[in-house]
Amino acid sequence: MFDHGGTGPAGELLIRAVTRIDELPSALGEDLLAELGDRRPALFLDFDGTLCPIVPHPDQAVLDNETRQALRRIADRCPVAVVSGRDRLDVAGRVALDDLYYAGSHGCDISGPGGFSQQWGAELRPSLHDAGDELDQALEGIPGAWVERKRFALAVHYRQAPADAEARIEQAVRSVAARHPDLRVAGGKKIFELRPDIDWDKGKAVMWLLESMGLRTDGIVPIYLGDDETDEDVFRRFEDGSGIGIVVGAGDRLTAARYRLADPAEVSAFLLRLAKVPRYST
Ligand SMILES: [Mg+2]
Repeated sequence: MFDHGGTGPAGELLIRAVTRIDELPSALGEDLLAELGDRRPALFLDFDGTLCPIVPHPDQAVLDNETRQALRRIADRCPVAVVSGRDRLDVAGRVALDDLYYAGSHGCDISGPGGFSQQWGAELRPSLHDAGDELDQALEGIPGAWVERKRFALAVHYRQAPADAEARIEQAVRSVAARHPDLRVAGGKKIFELRPDIDWDKGKAVMWLLESMGLRTDGIVPIYLGDDETDEDVFRRFEDGSGIGIVVGAGDRLTAARYRLADPAEVSAFLLRLAKVPRYST
């Protein structure tokens, strides 16, 4: 299925390939390994909803040990990066594996083995600080809505708020955002976020990592796994066949990914399978 993606700089019609998740082949089938062939994967993974089930409070997310061991085995032979909306140190602490690359804050804060490090948008942290105080005030008295102060973002969580409060919460977020034109509003699963309004997203972060890690070669195929809207920025980068997008979830949401896995349990099964492929050993 195709979607009109607007017009390009020369006025030409841009056609984006998008498919309903349920129509995609499973990444657990034979097609994906056949597509990889003799090439080595470079694995990029989102964390919440991908490696870990979504939990009522972000502090409760725990990576199960079987998944961690599969990641460790893959990382022995292939580059592995975790790309998350969480703070980099938060997600790195939960994955708890050295020698991985970690891109926190939707790719604004990257680290890797050997002191590899890069940040984008750090100059807007004072504005985030002020907006955090304003949001605390604006959300006072709405049960179940709370502000998480992250290094490069503010997250307003409302999973536990009454459904009829959502419009008020969105209004509060948008009015604070209007006072801070250097920040922008983004949404996720029962989350609003205020982030530095810079031209950067997970897609750009993954492309930057591929370049910086020296992985843009014929023998490497980047694979990205993610469950949310912010992950579509990566899937779209791979639509030209330069990588493989795997969406985690089910249903009729449109996605630019080419394979699917139902949930983090299937992600774990996929990783275990990849860890056992002998041809990726050196
Ligand atoms: Mg996610």
